[in-house]
Amino acid sequence: MNTTKYIFVTGGVSSSLGKGIIAASLAKLLQARGYRVTIQKLDPYINVDPGTLNPYEHGECYVTDDGAETDLDLGHYERFLNVSTSQANNVTTGRIYQSVIEKERRGEFLGKTVQVIPHITNEIKERVQLLGNTGEYDIVITEIGGTVGDIESLPYIEAVRQLKWELGDDNALVIHLTLVPYLSAAGELKTKPTQHSVKTLMESGIRADILVCRTEHELSDDLKRKLALFCNVKKEAVIQSIDASTIYDVPNMMLDEGLDTVTLQKLNLTEAKNPDLTRWNQFLKRHKNPKGKVCIGLIGKYVELQDSYKSILEAFIHAGAENEVKVEVKAIHSEHIDAKTIERELSELDGILVAPGFGERGIEGKIEAVRYAREHKLPFLGICLGMQMAVIEYARTVLGLKDANSTEMDEHTTHPVISLMEDQKSVTMKGGTMRLGAWKCELKPGSLVEGIYDTQMIAERHRHRYEFNSTYRDQLDKAGMVATGINPDTGLVEIVEIPSHPWFVGVQYHPEYKSTVANPHPLFVAFVKAAHEHAKEK
Ligand code: GLN
Repeated sequence: MNTTKYIFVTGGVSSSLGKGIIAASLAKLLQARGYRVTIQKLDPYINVDPGTLNPYEHGECYVTDDGAETDLDLGHYERFLNVSTSQANNVTTGRIYQSVIEKERRGEFLGKTVQVIPHITNEIKERVQLLGNTGEYDIVITEIGGTVGDIESLPYIEAVRQLKWELGDDNALVIHLTLVPYLSAAGELKTKPTQHSVKTLMESGIRADILVCRTEHELSDDLKRKLALFCNVKKEAVIQSIDASTIYDVPNMMLDEGLDTVTLQKLNLTEAKNPDLTRWNQFLKRHKNPKGKVCIGLIGKYVELQDSYKSILEAFIHAGAENEVKVEVKAIHSEHIDAKTIERELSELDGILVAPGFGERGIEGKIEAVRYAREHKLPFLGICLGMQMAVIEYARTVLGLKDANSTEMDEHTTHPVISLMEDQKSVTMKGGTMRLGAWKCELKPGSLVEGIYDTQMIAERHRHRYEFNSTYRDQLDKAGMVATGINPDTGLVEIVEIPSHPWFVGVQYHPEYKSTVANPHPLFVAFVKAAHEHAKEK
């Protein structure tokens, strides 16, 4: 018999309250008590996946090993739990409808009228139970995107209602995250918005079992009692989630509030052991007590929105803790870099990271930043588009191929050092058609990266269409830019280095997706170390 327990996390009052972090923190606590936990995100938008979304809309697009383009919350899940997620961990309304419509076309509902209830809700329920049915998890936490009361999340809420009824109270519970705002004019915390949002949930037939209240000030006992009374929950099930200085504090804050204890009680999991957070707390201690500082320039074009580079920023936090240094990331807009501004923008930096990206806007600034790092012997890490820009810069400046470019930016360049592979040339559909997910890469013996990874075969996650053009490999190699990571199946170049430079690495893949608290990514750790050494020399 399948005994998987299900926890649903809904949100009310406002968006951006941090459902993902609460879900990840609870998962962390349950995992620390020995349970096998996974988290899933249901997104109410109609895009089949966020791969086609501009980062300004939804922040970074996260990529899993199996090549799913997903919501950035999955990044938090992996960083907290150190467990891989997959396509099954992120479902959108677009994907649900696509699947139901395909079934209809195949005749699977022959004779029936296909409707939101039961067909769409059944599809949602199946997707929720898919993870539980693998037998790999004791507990599945499902985060429902959006806010209760939104038209678009109604089918999800209805599916939760049905599941809760079918699975029973011991096997399914609902945590509702709300906001308790502070009115400074009145000097008071207000519970009314929470009462209303619990009521909205109730109108859909769902009683919240646990309330998590985001707040800027401590909730008094009286206030918790009042919330409990009006919202139909026990007082110990009113959990305060006060603003934290780092998201990595939230698991301990939830532990102090007893979120895991009431969860386990309600799910009738009475034999839980005490949570072991040793590794987590070691990381926190190092993160909070840095012995030095480095300043890294993050050169990108979506810098106005921090979420666009979420995984990179988090990877720096992990790598900083590992090196016991504070990594200050200075986000620099690539469109603001030119011959006049470059010295002012980059001269204070201890290292330069040129970010991933798409399209022509801002690329000349990225190329200038690469040149600056190369010529000033500043530690450099180029990720995806950042690696491609490093190749273009080397071809232009060192090989003298003045119009070297990527065919993404200039289709007619005479020196397409970055170009499309044959199998991409015929692709017309945008969604899900890039080179995605984990690909193997063989590291060159004696190279910088081989030393860093301390192994010869790695697998890293990709998300790009264009590739290093191997026609130029010999020429670049002879001129000092060496291919040190090769895909063993396709021969594609995945990593370039400049051995005469103290630390210059460009990677076609995204190392940031695999950095977790328990396993900081070796490339980021080594990059921060190199930047720290550079800072000490200054
Ligand atoms: N635009 C580039 C490509 O498609 C790089 C993509 C990226 O940086 N993720 O190949």
